[in-house]
Amino acid sequence: MTDYSTSMRTDRCGDLRIDDVDRQVTLCGWVDRRREHGEHLAFIDLRDRSGVVQLVVDGAQDLRSEYVLQVSGIVRERPADTANDSLDTGAVEIDAAEVTVLSVAEPPPFPIDERTEVDEVLRLRHRYVDLRRPRLQRNLKVRAQVNSAVRSAMEEQGFLEVETPMLIASTPEGARDFVVPSRKEPGSFYALPQSPQIFKQLCMVGGVDRYYQIARCLRDEDLRSDRQFEFMQLDAEASFVSQDDVLAFISHAVLAVTEAVTGEQLGEIPRMSWHEAQERFGSDKPDVRFGMELVELTEVFAATEFRAFQAPCIKGIRVPGGADASRSQLDDLTEQCKLWGAKGLVWMRVTDKGLESPVAKFLTDGEQVRLSSTLDAEEGDLLLLVADERRMVRHILGLLRLELGRPPVTEGGLNFLWVVDFPLFEGLDDVGNPISAHHPFTMPHEDDLEVLDRGDLLDVRSQAYDLVLNGWELGSGSVRIHRSDIQEKIFSILGIGSTEAHAKFGFLLDAFRYGAPPHAGFAFGLDRLTAILAGEENIREVIAYPKTQSGADPLTSAPTPIDDRHLKELGLRVLPPAE
Ligand code: ASP
Repeated sequence: MTDYSTSMRTDRCGDLRIDDVDRQVTLCGWVDRRREHGEHLAFIDLRDRSGVVQLVVDGAQDLRSEYVLQVSGIVRERPADTANDSLDTGAVEIDAAEVTVLSVAEPPPFPIDERTEVDEVLRLRHRYVDLRRPRLQRNLKVRAQVNSAVRSAMEEQGFLEVETPMLIASTPEGARDFVVPSRKEPGSFYALPQSPQIFKQLCMVGGVDRYYQIARCLRDEDLRSDRQFEFMQLDAEASFVSQDDVLAFISHAVLAVTEAVTGEQLGEIPRMSWHEAQERFGSDKPDVRFGMELVELTEVFAATEFRAFQAPCIKGIRVPGGADASRSQLDDLTEQCKLWGAKGLVWMRVTDKGLESPVAKFLTDGEQVRLSSTLDAEEGDLLLLVADERRMVRHILGLLRLELGRPPVTEGGLNFLWVVDFPLFEGLDDVGNPISAHHPFTMPHEDDLEVLDRGDLLDVRSQAYDLVLNGWELGSGSVRIHRSDIQEKIFSILGIGSTEAHAKFGFLLDAFRYGAPPHAGFAFGLDRLTAILAGEENIREVIAYPKTQSGADPLTSAPTPIDDRHLKELGLRVLPPAE
């Protein structure tokens, strides 16, 4: 047990129990609640990080909400009729003989209790008050448990913690950099790291063998509920390893974290290929907590006369019991699919008289029967079908599936999943060059090296893998290219000429000339993992000082302009806002 006594207190409020009765204690904390008791007495709940305890004080004293007190008194057993079973300290109270006000407080801008919904900007502006509320107190604890468990798990596996710099040259994660102007070299800029990617690979060349870091990463991207400008990753890299080794290291770490926070021991994390994930779930980060899988129907309609179904791919999902959706709900769904890029959505209600749908009359009886049996349709279900290019079909039905079936974050347990065999390239840019799906140092799949030379580049698989939890992408990693011939080939396929490659990553390519071990790595987001473990939909709830959705910090007002003298020193001039 940690000893929390200091020169100002003997105990923490929330630690007192029936065994402490008759002890003389001194406590420090905030006034959580005050209730008058008769004319001369008041009850005060005194709060610190450990919880609250009830004080009995002289009612004449001016002790208001959020005043900071030091209290000395005797621990007494509460009379049976006033004991409170729902409180850890509910069997005792403090007969407070001496109360010192350490700080007075203005009334807080919002109540500290959990019952009141408070506007987020107000919460962030007074984050120090918000941090006192039970939700944030709980979430910060979960976060600290996550960090501590992850550290131990990596160290147990022989990973060495190495810190990498914040002021660097640009890294290749593909997002926009945050930049910092150089005073010594006006006109030149540092980039803040999007990840420690290059440094960790250099650590491998440097013989570190197994590296890890709880790394702060910065990416100038639009913010969402699962994304902040700056976020924390468990970043790792190891030498003389294969993909399987990395998956084992990281599985051990996330399972250790889960156990530390929830006490639950999960089994081995299953794997699924990227292709299968797309075909069955229409996503590279499938939420496997629920069914409603995408079912292949292309064959069913191979000879159809119905024009809209004469498409390269048709798939459908079955929404159990969804037949009671109203016409206007179905119209809304159709509109939603069009916004996502679909040409349309076909819906069918499964009734006792067969399929009820505006398109039923265009389908033969045989097609209707095979459709129902392929989808295992039962009376009362709703069937939703999309016909289009295969990519589009998967994309639309994948989103629809989530829209209609995704459980809240606190339901369905923790479903980790490895998604492996990602494609090396995720599409083509404006000038027809492929775009790296992970980053340009990712090793192609051994069996697909030849496809690189002749074949469809978009078919080349990579040795890249993602870790998914309940439909959230927790992190990614890959086996890296450590051979300069393969690296040069990839750069040239990506349209990165050797001058550009050397300008951008010359130091890495140089390092590889001096003996690079085969290596591979991974990074996963600690904010996301913590949020899911804490049962929060939004990562801002597990970050002590997050930014708002628009990237502002209502607490410090950042970002703020800097003064002219400072600008001058940096050789900068601010242009008027663009029209
Ligand atoms: N640097 C990569 C990322 O942040 C992870 C990795 O490849 O290790 O996504």
